Amino acid sequence: METVWVLGDQLNRRIGALAEAHPSTHRILLIESRQHLERRPTHRQRLHLVVTAMRRFAGELREEGFEVDFRQSPDMAGGLAAHRGEHDGAVVVTEPNSRSGRRFMDRHGVRQVASDQFLCHPSDFARWADGRKALRMEDFYRWQRTRLGYLMDGDEPVGGRWNYDSENRESPPGDGGDWPTPPTTPLDDIDQEIVESLPATAFGADPKGTWATDRAGALERMRHFVDRVLPLFGPHEDAMLSGNWHLAHSLLSPYLNLGLLTPNEVCDAVEDAYRNGGVPINSAEGFIRQVIGWREYVWGLYWLWPDHAATNHLGNDRDLPPAFTGAAATQMRCLTITLAELDRRAWVHHIPRLMVLSSLANLAGIHPRAVMEWMTSTYIDAAEWVMIPNVFGMGMWSDGGRMATKPYLSGGAYINRMSDYCGDCRFDPRKRTSDDACPFTSLYWDFLARHEAALRGNHRMSRALAGMRNLKDLSETRLRAAQVIEQLDAGLL
Ligand code: SF4
Repeated sequence: METVWVLGDQLNRRIGALAEAHPSTHRILLIESRQHLERRPTHRQRLHLVVTAMRRFAGELREEGFEVDFRQSPDMAGGLAAHRGEHDGAVVVTEPNSRSGRRFMDRHGVRQVASDQFLCHPSDFARWADGRKALRMEDFYRWQRTRLGYLMDGDEPVGGRWNYDSENRESPPGDGGDWPTPPTTPLDDIDQEIVESLPATAFGADPKGTWATDRAGALERMRHFVDRVLPLFGPHEDAMLSGNWHLAHSLLSPYLNLGLLTPNEVCDAVEDAYRNGGVPINSAEGFIRQVIGWREYVWGLYWLWPDHAATNHLGNDRDLPPAFTGAAATQMRCLTITLAELDRRAWVHHIPRLMVLSSLANLAGIHPRAVMEWMTSTYIDAAEWVMIPNVFGMGMWSDGGRMATKPYLSGGAYINRMSDYCGDCRFDPRKRTSDDACPFTSLYWDFLARHEAALRGNHRMSRALAGMRNLKDLSETRLRAAQVIEQLDAGLL
């Protein structure tokens, strides 16, 4: 009898090695590795989700008739050796979602079955990328749309346009909007047992049922999103509101990244909802672009660029400010709100991640490795393949433009336009030199001056650089920026 080893981010009966398995011919191995769970302080809800989802999946496979060897082990190698000591037969696994995982399987003689957990296998992505001068996400997305057939009428995109992004960047609605409340699931005995056994180094609030921990719960969340939230998804995709943490975001990334949902079933449901009416094209297209475009593009780049996480084009070298880790309070309202939400649920949507957290880290010169490690330990949906391109390529622009043509940076004006954060903040988003100047605004201009040489040849930055050169108070602004960085480091801002 063969053993199928199911990894913690491949919890789906229909993918890879498990798709062909049958209780009469296969047994199942799952290993809960303490080393994986304890190697760095991690948000309690992230640990709870990963461990609970594995245990529940093991239970579902047992109910189906499989013999399941669920092992708690100090590390993966020990768990595998113990399993082999008690069971004959080969061990097979679906290709792991990390480079180190695949190397481990090679070293330990575990046969790897090609993964279909994503819609574009790394080998297909490499073929798409081969010979291209620039690997533009939009080009990849159109290639994916065409070959997968999502939102297509023959060879043409439905509605005649590929991309409705320009309609999806509206400021928050003046009345705060009316956003459907996400479902929750009451915690049961398994949840309680796991919460009580979490390592002492774990941080953040305990789970309250926001995140589903099995496939049935994930499917319920998917239906809630498609039926109730999707029609509202598009226009305010980039808006941030202090009184509402979810707006019209899908909240499905944790399930996609653990395998509890597959990208094709989510996109099929969205396409059906669009075709049946009731979902505007900018909402359907915007969401499908996130899944078959952005998510798969990031996955492909992770495999294509093994050196990505070694890049630091801007030479950032500072440590993470104590405000990020909760070691000090912050007076910046945007940061206070974002960090409080992360503490509460281990999740904020892509704009606070990109334009508040990553932007501040880059403006302040924080080392990208420190940013990646912190985000990986904090976000509920983190995985190495998603974090490396998003942090080194997008958030911190550490690769100097291989992935994003310009750094994504926010001054106070952007955050003020896209949120309701600034009104009650002690800082003023329009000021850059005084004690009440917004730290983002002062740091934004200082960043452009500091990195002028690195950005000079970038035509997408030419207007911003010209604006910086025209500032009459650039010296004072840079002095204020230096003070901001000093205060951030000291936990005084
Ligand atoms: Fe953040 Fe600046 Fe706005 Fe305050 S004024 S909330 S620090 S962007």
